[in-house]
Amino acid sequence: MLGSGSRGNSTLLVSENTRILVDAGFSGRQLALRMESLGIGADSIDAVILTHEHSDHTRGAGVFARRHGTPVYLTAGTRDVCADLFRGSEDLRFYSPSRAFEVGDLRIFPFLTAHDAVDPVAVTVEGLHCGTRIGVATDLGRPTTGIRHSLAGCDFLILEANHDEALLRTGPYPPSVQARIASSHGHLSNHAAADFIGELVHSRLTGILLAHLSAQCNDPSLALEVVGTALERVGWTGWLQVAPQDEPTPLVDIHLLRETTGPAQLSLL
Ligand SMILES: [Zn+2]
Ligand SMILES: [Zn+2]
Repeated sequence: MLGSGSRGNSTLLVSENTRILVDAGFSGRQLALRMESLGIGADSIDAVILTHEHSDHTRGAGVFARRHGTPVYLTAGTRDVCADLFRGSEDLRFYSPSRAFEVGDLRIFPFLTAHDAVDPVAVTVEGLHCGTRIGVATDLGRPTTGIRHSLAGCDFLILEANHDEALLRTGPYPPSVQARIASSHGHLSNHAAADFIGELVHSRLTGILLAHLSAQCNDPSLALEVVGTALERVGWTGWLQVAPQDEPTPLVDIHLLRETTGPAQLSLL
C-alpha cells in the first residue's frame, strides 16, 4: 500500500505485465512520489480503480489521471458523487459491482460492501497467468455473506482493522462519529477483523496486511496482537503486517513469500 488510514488509501498491485492502483486517496503528487520511492514510475500505471467516493480513496484520482493519462475505473454512482474530481478530459470507464473486468493480465472482481457510500465495493484481483488472487477490502462495515464468499480462497488479503473498541469509546471523536465508525456501515474493529480473518484463513493464504488503522483509536501493535492471537488460535503462521499511513509498505512479492514461508500451518482447520 502507498499508505493507508483515514488520511488516504491507495494500493499498488503489480503483475508481470500490468500495474494498477486500487484507490487514489492521496494528492496526485504524493501518489507519484510514493510509487517512485518503490521504483515504479507513475506513467507506467495502467489503471486506477476506485472503490467508493470517500475522499480518503479518491482525492488524487482526477489529477493523477490527467497528468499520467491513466484510465479510471469506477461505478456510475461513484462518478456522480465525486464529479468535481474530473474535468471531462479523463478516460473514465464504468464497471458494475459483481461483474468482473480485465486490465492487462489482471482480472478485477468488484463486490458490494456494507459501507456508508453510494456504491461501496471491495475487490479481488487475480493474475490471469499465475492464478494468484489478492483481496483488497479496506472499508467493510460488516462482513456479509457476499463479502465472505468473494474473499474466500485468496492467496493474500489486505483487510481493514480500523479501531480498538475501547479506544474508540474514550477517544476524541464526538458520539455521532463514534456511532458511525462502529456501525454496520462503518469500519471493522480489531476484534471484528480478527474474527473475520479467522473465517477466511485457509492453507493457501500466504499473507495478510492490516489496513485503514485509525490514528486516534488504534495502534499498530494492538491490531497485530489482536489479529495475531486469533490467527495463532487457528494455527495460521503466515506473513502478517500493518500498512502505515505516512509511508508506503515495501513491495511484497507474493510468489517469493509463498516459497519462503511455505504453506501455512493450520493445526485446527
Ligand atoms: Zn470509506
Ligand atoms: Zn476509507
